[in-house]
Amino acid sequence: MSFEKFELNAQILAGVQTCGYKVPTPIQLQSIPPIMEGRDVMGLAQTGTGKTAAFVLPILQRLTQGSRGHVRALIIAPTRELSEQTHHAIGQLGRRTGLKSASIYGGVNINGQINKLRNKIDIISACPGRLLDHINRGTVDLSRIEVLVLDEADHMFDMGFLPDVRKIVKHLPAVRQTLLFSATMPEDIRSLANDLLKNPVDITIGHIAPVETVSHKFYPVQMDTKTALLKDILDKTDVESVLVFTRTKSRAKSVALQLDKSGYKVTSLHGNLTQQKRQLALDGFRDGRYEIMVATDIAARGIDVTGISHVINYDMPSTTDAYTHRIGRTGRATRTGDAFTFVTGEDMGLAHSLQKVLGEKLEYQSVDGLTMSIPVDDSTSGHHHNRGRGMKPGNNRKKFSPKARANSRIGQRSFSASNRSQWAH
Ligand code: AMP
Repeated sequence: MSFEKFELNAQILAGVQTCGYKVPTPIQLQSIPPIMEGRDVMGLAQTGTGKTAAFVLPILQRLTQGSRGHVRALIIAPTRELSEQTHHAIGQLGRRTGLKSASIYGGVNINGQINKLRNKIDIISACPGRLLDHINRGTVDLSRIEVLVLDEADHMFDMGFLPDVRKIVKHLPAVRQTLLFSATMPEDIRSLANDLLKNPVDITIGHIAPVETVSHKFYPVQMDTKTALLKDILDKTDVESVLVFTRTKSRAKSVALQLDKSGYKVTSLHGNLTQQKRQLALDGFRDGRYEIMVATDIAARGIDVTGISHVINYDMPSTTDAYTHRIGRTGRATRTGDAFTFVTGEDMGLAHSLQKVLGEKLEYQSVDGLTMSIPVDDSTSGHHHNRGRGMKPGNNRKKFSPKARANSRIGQRSFSASNRSQWAH
């Protein structure tokens, strides 16, 4: 099916064409019709599924009708990157509609935003804290909002923004359309949805299973070998654009520094940077000056760099959901991507949980001299992928922690192009 079926007006279809979207993604197929009917929607969907256009297109359609020049749609997002990204999508998809949007977030001077808001804005894409600041100063008028979107609601909860969101909602008309998108549905989000949504249409896309266009490779490794393994992978893999995740800010910095010293084109993104430095790092990564970005989870939220070919979890994420969010950075839309995860003995519990989610898409990898061996149960015929360097099961490789036995049945079938699921309809 094509976008024509949604009966969007011609200016909006022109935007869809400019963006190069040919076939709607599953979330777009399921959400656009009810949103266009004015229904509330609760979408369980992760980043990378095309959810931004799923709500932006019907909003544009609604706003091309009716009066202009006052704020009629509000999108609340947890990070400035996501807020900017949505503002950018509105700009591209809505270019021919003449509708104006503004992104509002903290960490930058408020006066510029106050001027922008005086400028007859139709749509605001905002982070909660700064928006509340504008509400308190009386520099934004939300009394004529018709559509409210809460994007990445679970991240807003993680980051402690839900009280701010609830305060903001008090300033909106009670009669409105409300859309909530979240990759996971913790209890607090469910209760927020119960309070804010009226008779919503529930839509679930790829529930917590990481995007299907990604292949998942795990490397059992010791902590002190991780950087050597990282360099080995970078040297031997055909990478376009790599996002490396670390657990802490200081490690993001030190890994980037070590790669830089070894001559890689690398930058880092972590919470200690000023907005200007973040922007420089992001711009450099987007335009290809840096091939590698080392980031922490929080700093990387909302990054939309369409060409990310590889995500490398230098440190294992703390939960399966966090894994999903990280991996959502690659394999976006119809592209395919690879996710490499370094697993130490301590991480085996989570590795086992991930195995349940990923099933046969998970493949363990060995690199001679750098990885540890995973004990292979005799009853399983799996082979560790060998990067062509003569690894044999049972050679004199260091043994991995006994906990690893829990993983001895890990599916070893490799991920092939034929089972990559595409958005074909
Ligand atoms: P999102 O989940 O909204 O962050 O979107 C992920 C990526 O998919 C973005 O780079 C979008 O530009 C892209 N995208 C969204 N819809 C489509 C589509 N129908 N076809 C191809 N790419 C799309």
